[in-house]
Amino acid sequence: MDKLLPRFLEYVAIDTQSDPRADTVPSTKKQWDLAKKLVMELQHIGMQEVSIDENAYIMATLPSNTDKKVPTIGFIAHFDTSPDFSGKNVKPRVIENYDGGDIVLNKKKNIVLSPDYFADLTQYVGQTLITTDGTTLLGADDKAGVAEIITAMEYLIQHPEIKHGKIRIGFTPDEEIGKGAHHFDVEKFGAAWAYTIDGSQVGELEYENFNAARATVTFSGKSVHPGYAKNKMVNAIALANEFLSLLPKKEVPEMTTGREGFFHVHEIKGTIEKASVDLIIRDHDPEHFEARKELLYDIQDKINSRIENVVSVVIEDQYKNMREKIEPVFHIVEIAEEAMHQLGIEPIIKPIRGGTDGSQLSFMGLPCPNIFAGGHNFHGKYEYIPLESMQKAVEVIVKICELTAERFRD
Ligand SMILES: [Zn+2]
Repeated sequence: MDKLLPRFLEYVAIDTQSDPRADTVPSTKKQWDLAKKLVMELQHIGMQEVSIDENAYIMATLPSNTDKKVPTIGFIAHFDTSPDFSGKNVKPRVIENYDGGDIVLNKKKNIVLSPDYFADLTQYVGQTLITTDGTTLLGADDKAGVAEIITAMEYLIQHPEIKHGKIRIGFTPDEEIGKGAHHFDVEKFGAAWAYTIDGSQVGELEYENFNAARATVTFSGKSVHPGYAKNKMVNAIALANEFLSLLPKKEVPEMTTGREGFFHVHEIKGTIEKASVDLIIRDHDPEHFEARKELLYDIQDKINSRIENVVSVVIEDQYKNMREKIEPVFHIVEIAEEAMHQLGIEPIIKPIRGGTDGSQLSFMGLPCPNIFAGGHNFHGKYEYIPLESMQKAVEVIVKICELTAERFRD
């Protein structure tokens, strides 16, 4: 496992930021730089059937080392980093034996990673932390996942006494722009189920995510000279304002947590003639999710019944809660839980307040819960990861392979 840290440091040094505005696959050419390196690394450690396709999707096989019939399982991570923050010239800092105090990331710019603000840090006193230099993100999301999977496979190759079935691994580009699963060939992958190694702190195990839709509401007004507007002018801005006033005030991201859903208005544009409101709808519960859509249509109808055809709601579904695809094969969650228990890790099971590639893959026929990769404060300069958490992730991957073979052998 001693190659885990050097691997991780090597990967984060390569800029692989994805770009939501591009329509190429992968969205940025530079993702190939790391992709090609990963292919060589997989061949180097002795993986079989190492492939990379024209979209930079990487797959590889660790063949079964048992005669028993064991289902093929997979592990998946993404190698792009978030467009939200620079991933260029990442200069990671390794802090050994963390003392629990402030970490000055950048003296000149006075950027400090402090446990006063990021209380999670206090869990890691005495551990080795990898941080940024305060000018970039780190890219533990999800290069930690990539390094952990490769290290786990290397460990299994070096320890043939650990019996396992066929293991498939997949590394994808463009997860951060919501497209990591788009070109994932589930059939070629050929696993009964898989795990994304893309969660945050040690113990995280997730198999529920939001149902998600976006809505655009447009308002048509009628502009008339304001001095002579009585009973003639229709102000689209006032209609937009009325519409928003009829949404539940407390069901917004800044006032909800856990399993509570919300409406999130993220853009308003308007003149008297025309206004538009862009919002997103999120809810774990499929019925509540549908009720939220209905509410938008109801408000539309209410305003339109007063002034004909001035409001129009268009709703587009984005992704769905994977829970319905995981529940029928719940042993895949139980195996991960059992792996953590055997390693002395307390599983933290909670609904994701977002989506994952795993949810898309689950609906494409590859049930795919998410497991921790170990990092914190993703997508920004305060991102950090404890080396010990990365080691735990490697152990969990190895243990899942072992338990799957134990549980399913006949
Ligand atoms: Zn990620």
